Amino acid sequence: MNSRLWGRTTVALQPYIPGEQVFDREYSKLNTNECPYPPSPLVAAALAAQTASDLRRYPDPDSSELTAALAAAHGLRPEQVLACGGSDEALAFAFMAFFDRGDRVYFPDITYGFYRVYSDLFGLAAVELPLREDFTVGIEDYFGLDGHLFLANPNAPTGTALTPGQIEEIVRRNPDRLVVVDEAYIDFAPGMSCLELIHRYDNLLVVQTFSKSRALAGMRLGAAFGDASLIGGLNRIKYSFNPYNLDQVSQAVGIAALADGAYLAHTVERIIATRERVSARLTQLGCEVIPSSTNFLFVRHPSLSGSQLYQNLKRDGVLVRHFPKARIDNFLRVTVGTDGEMDQFITLMEGYQ
Ligand SMILES: *Cc1c(COP(=O)(O)O)cnc(C)c1O
Repeated sequence: MNSRLWGRTTVALQPYIPGEQVFDREYSKLNTNECPYPPSPLVAAALAAQTASDLRRYPDPDSSELTAALAAAHGLRPEQVLACGGSDEALAFAFMAFFDRGDRVYFPDITYGFYRVYSDLFGLAAVELPLREDFTVGIEDYFGLDGHLFLANPNAPTGTALTPGQIEEIVRRNPDRLVVVDEAYIDFAPGMSCLELIHRYDNLLVVQTFSKSRALAGMRLGAAFGDASLIGGLNRIKYSFNPYNLDQVSQAVGIAALADGAYLAHTVERIIATRERVSARLTQLGCEVIPSSTNFLFVRHPSLSGSQLYQNLKRDGVLVRHFPKARIDNFLRVTVGTDGEMDQFITLMEGYQ
């Protein structure tokens, strides 16, 4: 319901629509790209070590220990790292730090919905560049732009990835523009991270999250990596908006998760194996499956429309994501769950015509 007290920007906003969280029955939840496996046991231990009494203190506003752990994990200096409350917060800080109202911002026509939402929230002029027919990013479209740009790599909801070499080409061709690369799914695309490039380019900001591969969507942990000058800009915003952006429980959990690299590798390996198996089977069934570098599959059924398939699956207890949008209306985004969940999904798909 609108109020006459709302500002014009609030009235005009079209807020982000999160994936359905339905509680009326048990669903196989393949709609928000969460991890089907629990976080590292070290996370449970870190949570158990928390005491209520400690909560009377403000948390460390710099998240110093977590920042040091993130830096060490990636061979960076702490000045090149900002720990955030989910990568969404890192993205919001970037929108606030590097733009003025009315500036242009570029991103693909089919990508993470939050870029459009933030662009509207902060009064920017968004320019959507169409993906190619096969849903890949045409890098030439991003050369010599007159505004900063955002790329999810791998992209969502399509699942395709650019190589670090292709990202470098875009960064090189926009020396006076900021290139933000959102690597929410990068752990599912081994060898594809462009993080290394921040040592050579001061106009590249890389954003990552603990929500997907580290199974911590409920904790709200993410990070931005870039030249110290970029991180300095983000910190100016953070300290003008929410200095205590990470509570102490989140900081402790983040440190614990980072300490268990072997567990991350094992989780990712299982999910990739399941992804490849399901992808091959769906292709056999006549589905179009876009090659995925993520923990989800973007799938078109040979005969059913996207909304029909979505409804069939929901009726049969499987939640997936459907985007009623031009070009992708007949595709569904299906999170890679456990092998059991995916077997149930495949059995259902075999039964639909
Ligand atoms: C899931 C996702 C995010 C948000 O992650 P949080 O860290 O949970 O805020 C950001 N970008 C993309 C492309 C995502 O898919």
